[in-house]
Parts: sequence; C-alpha cells; structure tokens
Amino acid sequence: MQEAGKTSELKPIKHVGTVAIIGVPNVGKSTLLNNIMEMKLSITCKKPQTTRNQVRGILDQKDAQVVFIDTPGIHSSDKKLNRIMVQNAIMAMEEADVVLVVSDFLPQTAELPPTCDLGLKPLLGHLSKLQVPVILALNKVDKLEDKRLLLPLITALTERFHFKDIYPISALKNDGVTALVQGIIANLPAGYPLFSDGSYTNITERFLASEIIREKLMNYTQQEIPYSSAVAIDAFDDKRSESKPMVRITASIVVERDSQKAIVIGKGGAMIRTIGTAARHELEEMLESRVYLDLLVKVEEKWTQDSSMLARLGYFVNE
Ligand code: GDP
Ligand code: MG
Repeated sequence: MQEAGKTSELKPIKHVGTVAIIGVPNVGKSTLLNNIMEMKLSITCKKPQTTRNQVRGILDQKDAQVVFIDTPGIHSSDKKLNRIMVQNAIMAMEEADVVLVVSDFLPQTAELPPTCDLGLKPLLGHLSKLQVPVILALNKVDKLEDKRLLLPLITALTERFHFKDIYPISALKNDGVTALVQGIIANLPAGYPLFSDGSYTNITERFLASEIIREKLMNYTQQEIPYSSAVAIDAFDDKRSESKPMVRITASIVVERDSQKAIVIGKGGAMIRTIGTAARHELEEMLESRVYLDLLVKVEEKWTQDSSMLARLGYFVNE
C-alpha cells in the first residue's frame, strides 16, 4: 500500500450518485428502469451475500452518472411484511443520494382517501426523516381518464407526503420519463464517478468493491472520517481466468484535510493496513479469487466546500 501520487483519471463530474427505487410490486419499477436504460444496460449481477441491495442499472451521461439500486420488494400487507426487507429498504434509502418512490396510485376522483399511504406504510415514517431528496414518480397516468384530476392529486400528495418533486409519468408509453430523469440528475451532487472508465465490464463488481472499502473505512475510523469522503476505484484488473487467478484493485480514498489523511493512514500505516486487510478479505469472498488491493489516500480540499457536496451531506444550499 502506498500514498497517492497523481491519479489523473479521477475527475469530479457535475452529478453523481445512487438512486434507491422504492415501491410495492406491480407499480412499474422494472418497466421504468428498462425504459430509462433504453435496454442498453440491464445488469443482472451475481449478487454476493455481502451486499444488501442490487445494482440494477447505471446511466452514464457526459456530466452525470446515476446508479439505480433496487431495494427488496415492499409489500403493502403488514402481515406479510418481512422486517428484514423493510430494514434493507431503509438502509438503501439512507445510503442513497436520491430516493425514488414509484407509485401507480391514481384515484379517479379529486379526493385523496385518508387511508392513502402509497403502499409504503412501514416506510413513511422513515421517508419523512430522510435528509436526501425523495422524488415521487406517479406512474401509469395513461390510465387516468380525466387528466384534470392530475393537478389536484399532485397537490394533495405534496401536502401529505413532503415529496421534493412529483413527476406524473407513463413508463409504458415513455411519457414524462425524460423529465423525471432530468429531475433526478438535478438533485444529485457533484462527485467522483463511481465507475472511472466507460467500460461496463465488471462495473457492478467495481461498484461493490468501492462500497466494501467505504464500509471498512467508516467502520474503523468511526466518527473521525465524515461521510463526505469518497472511494473511487482507479483500476480493476481482472485476471480470474488466468492460470493464477487474481484481481488487482487500485482504489483512492478521498478526504478533505491532511489531518483526515493522517487518521486514515494511521500510525506507521496501521489504520490503512487494517482497512485494507478487512476490505481485501471481503473482496476475496465476493470475487471468489485472490485479491491484491492497493489503497491510496488523497486530499481534495475543496471537496466539501462545494455546495453540491454539502447537499450530499443533507444541507440544502440555495444558490
Ligand atoms: P414492478 O413490479 O414494479 O417492477 O412492475 P412492472 O414494471 O413489472 O409492471 C407491472 C405491470 O404494469 C406490467 O404489466 C406493466 O406493463 C404495467 N405498467 C408499467 N408501467 C405502466 C404504465 O405507465 N402504464 C400502464 N398502463 N401500465 C404500466
Ligand atoms: Mg419488477
């Protein structure tokens, strides 16, 4: 392990982050995601036991990279509700930069029934406490006979649920989806791409690798390293098909101050070794291969002075 030299490929882009998709079955989550991805990329990753949620697709644009995370299905029936599933959904929501709720709730009247909970009853308390923007995609509006009901419905839903934005869409007819995606992107902070090159090979594993390293960083440094720190995978050299299978990973831990860099490195490099060893063990399990992990620590001073970075921390800055 070594400290960072220059990593020229690590450049922040305008909007980057993860989006947790929440919703009961059949509201159109898959249809929407397929539509967003335009079938270009539909990752079905071999889901390692170590990860809680599944990466479903990555939208890569010039100034934005959006990682959509599927959360375990939430069932509307309390009885059937699996506590673990709810816990997982909550965890995904807390780790996401934007939460996207998908609903097909379209009463054919202007009144919002008092019992309306969008099927999210066990999550509503948490949704209202989240620091990150929660956006509602109101799907299947093509089925709404009287389109004049849409505006009062959106107003009523806004009042009751405190969504940051509500987008009426038809995932099936590709109506309103572009506006929704632009709205999601606008809510994502600037940051380092979660994937640092255009190649989609191993993209899921790369992402999961960065998550594993970040988790170890947070575990071992406790409160000393803020959540604003980032982990970027600089290189992911997959040699699993060779005679001596191994994966060589180079990752950068980005912090904002020299003092934090000192903490991450630790006395005589003890901390970075601990983080690296723990991460490597988990990576070896996930990748089913020997892993060589090279961890770099970088200081990027302006990283958290950035208003979009503050937004990531839950502070909303008016500009
Ligand atoms: P998921 O369980 O939330 O992933 O829902 P799916 O994407 O599998 O969709 C469930 C059903 O709703 C399918 O039959 C879709 O064709 C249908 N559906 C999805 N989006 C729309 C829409 O915008 N309008 C209409 N009318 N049907 C839709
Ligand atoms: Mg589905």
